[in-house]
Amino acid sequence: MAELPRTASVVIIGGGVVGCSIAYYLARRGVRDVLLLEREALGAGTTSKAAGGIRAQFPTETEIRFSLESRRTLETFKEEFGVDPDYRQIGYLTLVSEPAELRAFETRIALQRQMGVDVRVISPAEAQAIVPALFVDDLLAAIWSPQDGFAGPAEVTAGFARRARELGARLLEGVAATGIQVAGSRVQGVETTRGLVSTPLVVNAAGPAARQVGRMVGLELPVAPCRRHIFFTEPFPAIPGPVPLTIDSGSGFYFRKEQERVLLSPGDVEDRGDDLSAAVDWGRLEEATRKAVRRVPVLERAAIAGGWAGLRPLTPDDHAIIGPAPGVEGCFLAVGFGGHGFQHAPATGRYVAEWLVDGRPSLDLSLFDPARFNAGPAPAYPHAADGE
Ligand SMILES: Cc1cc2nc3c(=O)[nH]c(=O)nc-3n(C[C@H](O)[C@H](O)[C@H](O)COP(=O)(O)OP(=O)(O)OC[C@H]3O[C@@H](n4cnc5c(N)ncnc54)[C@H](O)[C@@H]3O)c2cc1C
Repeated sequence: MAELPRTASVVIIGGGVVGCSIAYYLARRGVRDVLLLEREALGAGTTSKAAGGIRAQFPTETEIRFSLESRRTLETFKEEFGVDPDYRQIGYLTLVSEPAELRAFETRIALQRQMGVDVRVISPAEAQAIVPALFVDDLLAAIWSPQDGFAGPAEVTAGFARRARELGARLLEGVAATGIQVAGSRVQGVETTRGLVSTPLVVNAAGPAARQVGRMVGLELPVAPCRRHIFFTEPFPAIPGPVPLTIDSGSGFYFRKEQERVLLSPGDVEDRGDDLSAAVDWGRLEEATRKAVRRVPVLERAAIAGGWAGLRPLTPDDHAIIGPAPGVEGCFLAVGFGGHGFQHAPATGRYVAEWLVDGRPSLDLSLFDPARFNAGPAPAYPHAADGE
């Protein structure tokens, strides 16, 4: 069992894709004594539940930049990290049936195209040409972005972790942070299941457990662990692959092919509060198959082989929380990534490292300002039907 160091220049709490990316970029920037604590195994948290979707279709310039940055990282990931990320640009296809929704997409598309993203509105017939199994009679249009796709969350996390270690960072598994010592509003150290580590800097990268870790410094972070299910079929050749990640924006249902199987999600959003267990509720299968068969009738013949559930750490405005924790010196937040934390992890690691090493990031990250929720009552948690 690796020994717990007594001191660290920075302690990252959480070894999901976000924490591992931050560890890697800090080490790459020459930060010594980087320590990451993971209470289970690296990547075993909500990262292991992700559908792997990668898209540049976001509503804000900052998030689109994050996506483009992540895409560049994935394109050269194998050379840089020695791990094949299984990156495939098979496209995202979003099906739209409501005029108001289409108008909202058109505004975003204008911004995305300005920023060089290949994304366009296509007709229902064109959508059906891409995925012949679709029922399209009730659709107004679809949004097609051929350069989007997916990659392997486990592979990407392993790549970050491997290189971070090679660069001298210590990533410990099976060690939980149990408290954060603060004196005069300044972080002094992290209490763990294996003893105390003195440090001036702690990064909360605890995914769905962000709120619990926030409470260690007296913060109540607006990060809700919302359960979402994904079911998968037996091998199903009736829908030949590859199939783009296809989202029915009206119902939230989405699906894609994973080798010979079809992955399908009802697009459910259920705030689990402090329950982080994420057990599968098989009652959700009926909802998933109903939505699936309505949009892809041939799925009526598919046998469901299994499924899983995971927690998407949602914020009230569906944007992540990245920056220094308000009122606690030496506490940095990289949490609340919702359904897009996997795809935004590469850019997050890089900009967080810039922030911590250079004093500020090279990209304006005010969209993610942790203090933005202090201004007034937060809006309701979003349905987030445009994503994973
Ligand atoms: C069904 C589903 C589908 C999704 N699909 C996609 C997708 O297609 N594309 C995409 O980009 N994103 C997707 N996501 C979202 C994505 O999985 C998350 O946003 C992302 O994995 C968050 O990474 P993280 O590192 O912040 O969290 P995690 O992977 O959960 O990592 C946090 C880690 O912190 C550890 N931890 C917590 N508390 C402590 C403590 N006290 N001490 C030590 N360790 C601690 C946990 O064990 C955990 O391993 C999906 C999520 C779900 C549930």
